[in-house]
Amino acid sequence: MIKGIAASAGVSVSKVFKLQHPVVNIEKREANVEEEIKKLQDAIVATQKDIEAIKANAVGRLADEELAIFDAHLMVTQDPEFIGQIEEQIKNDSVNAEYAVHEVSSMFIGMFESMEDPYFRERAADIKDVTYRMQTHILGLIIPDLTTINEEVVIVAEDLTPSDTAQLNRQFVKGFATEIGGRTSHSAIMARSLEIPAVVGAGSLLDKCEHGDSIILDAIDGAIIFKPTEAQIAEYTAKGEAFAAHKESLKALKDAESVTTDGHHVELAGNIGTPNDVEGVVNNGGEGVGLYRTEFLYMDASELPNEEDQYNAYKTVLENMAPGRVVVRTLDIGGDKELSYLKFPHEMNPFLGYRAIRLCLDRTDIFRVQLRALLRASVHGKLSIMFPMIATIQEFRDAKALFLEEKKNLTKEGVAVSDDIELGMMVEIPAAAILADQFAKEADFFSIGTNDLIQYSMAADRMNEKVSYLYQPYNPSILRLVKMTIDGAHKEGKWCGMCGEMAGDEKAIPLLLGLGLDEFSMSASSILEARRIIRDLSFAEMQELANTALNMSTTEEVLELLAKHVA
Ligand code: PEP
Ligand code: MG
Repeated sequence: MIKGIAASAGVSVSKVFKLQHPVVNIEKREANVEEEIKKLQDAIVATQKDIEAIKANAVGRLADEELAIFDAHLMVTQDPEFIGQIEEQIKNDSVNAEYAVHEVSSMFIGMFESMEDPYFRERAADIKDVTYRMQTHILGLIIPDLTTINEEVVIVAEDLTPSDTAQLNRQFVKGFATEIGGRTSHSAIMARSLEIPAVVGAGSLLDKCEHGDSIILDAIDGAIIFKPTEAQIAEYTAKGEAFAAHKESLKALKDAESVTTDGHHVELAGNIGTPNDVEGVVNNGGEGVGLYRTEFLYMDASELPNEEDQYNAYKTVLENMAPGRVVVRTLDIGGDKELSYLKFPHEMNPFLGYRAIRLCLDRTDIFRVQLRALLRASVHGKLSIMFPMIATIQEFRDAKALFLEEKKNLTKEGVAVSDDIELGMMVEIPAAAILADQFAKEADFFSIGTNDLIQYSMAADRMNEKVSYLYQPYNPSILRLVKMTIDGAHKEGKWCGMCGEMAGDEKAIPLLLGLGLDEFSMSASSILEARRIIRDLSFAEMQELANTALNMSTTEEVLELLAKHVA
């Protein structure tokens, strides 16, 4: 058994399709300049045709932002700086085209890979993908065509490029296993979007199997077995069937109420990063969107998105989620999230620095554009807006004042805006949790951001492995902050949700329910399981459980309590 990272859940028992790309041997040769330029130009045209064909084949199967990868690839083939430098090298050194492509692309790839910004590191992957294609055309090599697969297989490869993944046909491709890659690599993200089981980063695989070998892909626990025994085949077939049956049984809860055995209702919502994610929330029975992280709109662009582009994105989300509520979080940039086109001075403690609402209240030019776009979109559904990283009442008042100013401006311009937009805030700084009863007099709702609330309460960087032992959602101190926030909201008749990862944690749900949380927002794929758990619990019993937990002294005690009382 070979272990890897489970990147997209499922189990497949099938046959190996070995995807090995031809090796391009690059040697420097002296060559005829005109011939090489011609080869280069032909290769560019052929590469563009390939990319267009792959994209056309993927339309309807991949989301728009994934299709955009192919536009990025086309742009590489049209980039005057990139292509110009290759031509220069051929002319100046009288060298062969594939060598010139190799030299120039290596320079660009090295430059992009050395940048910290993930946006630029992705550009390095784009250039690699495109130059490989160009070189195979120059050398007359053939890349295996995944679109011709017409029997059930599991693909085994060193890695899958985005273009490989886009060509996968779900009817025949029952999964893939790769030697390299992680949960957030492009191919893993696409596998989840296509719902194809995938195990990535499994180490050497290609030298352990032959084309057509039987294979078990366990993308629940991250394992691969080549040439399994009859007993293993039976065991994993059963595991796959159980997984499919569980998934299928949860579907019955798609339209069920999120209600406890004693009649207490809560709302289950989804977290999204792009308008395309709404579909997953709806398909998984989400009652609304509890967190729309709008920063991705800014991070996926090469400049600040204008009012029109933002309006369109917000309108799409609102329309597709209607009549359900959509909680849009205003720009939360800074900390670990940077914008390549908006540089700020380096900070010693970026998580404690110039970020989120602090930045927006300073750069009101940026903030106002977003508020206007949101206000204009508000007529297309049920919009709630929340501000991230609120620490003081004054910050909330300032943000609200800007919102009201833009509302007035738009009304004066004759633009229709909704009159019942809720204005709330994230509670992710302990100061806000402690003063929740005061904040609740001004905010319409709270959403607890435990990802940050825990790091700020424990003074433990959420990105730092060395202090990850302090990242304790079940620590009674965190539970008390959550309780104070919920009680503060309820005292003023306001609702309180949670959009941090803790809200979708199966173990935490009974406690959060008992603490009185009104809304749970999580990744779409967790919603149905959360509903199943809630429907099996008694609210009165969970209130008692939560009370006991609040009076414990350690995380371990709370976990023990949960293990004892919740199945
Ligand atoms: C949080 O802090 O819990 C949260 C939901 O926001 P993010 O993870 O985007 O910081
Ligand atoms: Mg946060």
